[in-house]
Amino acid sequence: MYDVVVVGAGPAGLMAAGAAGAAGARVLLLEKNRGPGRKLLISGGGRCNFTNAETDMHRLISRYDTAGKALFSPFARMGPTQVLEFFASRGMPYKTEDNNRAFPRSDKSSSVLQVLLDYIEEGRVTLRTQTTVKALRTDSGRVQGVELQDGSIDVGSVVVSTGGLARPDTGSTGDGFSWLEQLGHSIVRPEPSLVPVVVEEDWVTDLQGLAFAELRISLRLGEKTISKTDGKVLFTHFGLSGPGILNLATRISQAAAEARKQGQPAPTISLNFFPTLDGGSLDRQLQDELSAYPRRLLRTILESMLPPRLARCILAEAGVSTGLSGEITASEVPKQLRKRIVSLMQDFRLTYRELQSEDWAVVSSGGVPANEVDFRSMESKMIAGLFVCGDMLNINRPSGGYSLQICWATGYVAGLSSAEAARFQHG
Ligand SMILES: Cc1cc2nc3c(=O)[nH]c(=O)nc-3n(C[C@H](O)[C@H](O)[C@H](O)COP(=O)(O)OP(=O)(O)OC[C@H]3O[C@@H](n4cnc5c(N)ncnc54)[C@H](O)[C@@H]3O)c2cc1C
Repeated sequence: MYDVVVVGAGPAGLMAAGAAGAAGARVLLLEKNRGPGRKLLISGGGRCNFTNAETDMHRLISRYDTAGKALFSPFARMGPTQVLEFFASRGMPYKTEDNNRAFPRSDKSSSVLQVLLDYIEEGRVTLRTQTTVKALRTDSGRVQGVELQDGSIDVGSVVVSTGGLARPDTGSTGDGFSWLEQLGHSIVRPEPSLVPVVVEEDWVTDLQGLAFAELRISLRLGEKTISKTDGKVLFTHFGLSGPGILNLATRISQAAAEARKQGQPAPTISLNFFPTLDGGSLDRQLQDELSAYPRRLLRTILESMLPPRLARCILAEAGVSTGLSGEITASEVPKQLRKRIVSLMQDFRLTYRELQSEDWAVVSSGGVPANEVDFRSMESKMIAGLFVCGDMLNINRPSGGYSLQICWATGYVAGLSSAEAARFQHG
């Protein structure tokens, strides 16, 4: 006999189950995978950027889309300060990197998962893995239980934390969305949102694996710049990834849709590899190098300024041979070619083809609209006793720990309120 059933043992479900257990409820946590937290383990490249340590609440909320206003209430109870304290006080030291991104000091996402496993154990939560929930049972607008493959469980409080649709191989297959839709919620169609970009240029495969800490990324339609940002960029075999690109993905696909509608060519992504220099200074720097080493190959000089594979790619784009025969020396570089190379170093363009599929997405947009959930309790406004948290919610967020911060806060509140609701039902 359980007071609360939590469906899905990702970060939101683990936090919800632990909080409900700590509040005294008898909790059953159901997970269809062999083990909990599969997506959590691959988060942040296996290092897990587990929150964003921004302490100014208004600034923090401004990073989410307009639906993020709803987060004021759960963040007041489990904001970044409390999250850092939660993990640190349970034996997980942390460190903060650029842009307030917080990581476990171990650089291992398994440290984050371990804290959550200890938390559910403390709360005497029963974790049942390899158990798929098939449906929710309700009657007259109130939850009655959950249906499994082989039977059902009667319970008056259910937390649905089955995640979004990004990376379905980790178990997030959108099951909760179909259940809630059948129960009257208007699910916003999930689309991959923080997702890498596929480009037209096949030669991008030559650059696979190159990573840049801070580039200026401009999104262009023809010669018009429609968006500009600074961020990390990673070249992949199909195109571009890294936080700077992921954060622009939705904007890029919107721009492409607009361009298509107006019969214009696809947008381009322009990368500036020297964002702190203006064109004149970079040109002078290259000119100095060329004059200092007139007999050196142009390729060798560029390879000292850029990763060699990128240098060769820029030379190829500028029409300069990088083969054994036909290479030119520094003294042979005409002004026009030098200008073209400088321009490619600061305006290196790749043509947008499409966003990668949700198999590659870090998060998907869409889900349960924020106005259909009471964020003071995380209870559905349509079905009593049904609580929703984590990636199930339609709140767009950038890369940088903002996603897991939603999971901790909404999971915590959902856990406490589901326990409270169960107490009320039992009188
Ligand atoms: C590659 C990658 C890197 C990321 N890095 C970061 C990062 O560094 N920082 C950050 O803030 N965010 C990051 N994210 C996003 C973050 O991982 C998610 O926001 C978070 O995992 C969502 O947690 P959740 O509990 O809502 O859902 P999920 O983690 O998706 O968990 C849902 C769980 O429910 C289970 N489930 C689904 N259906 C059923 C069912 N019918 N019955 C039983 N169980 C079910 C699933 O198996 C799964 O275990 C990353 C995501 C990816 C894919």
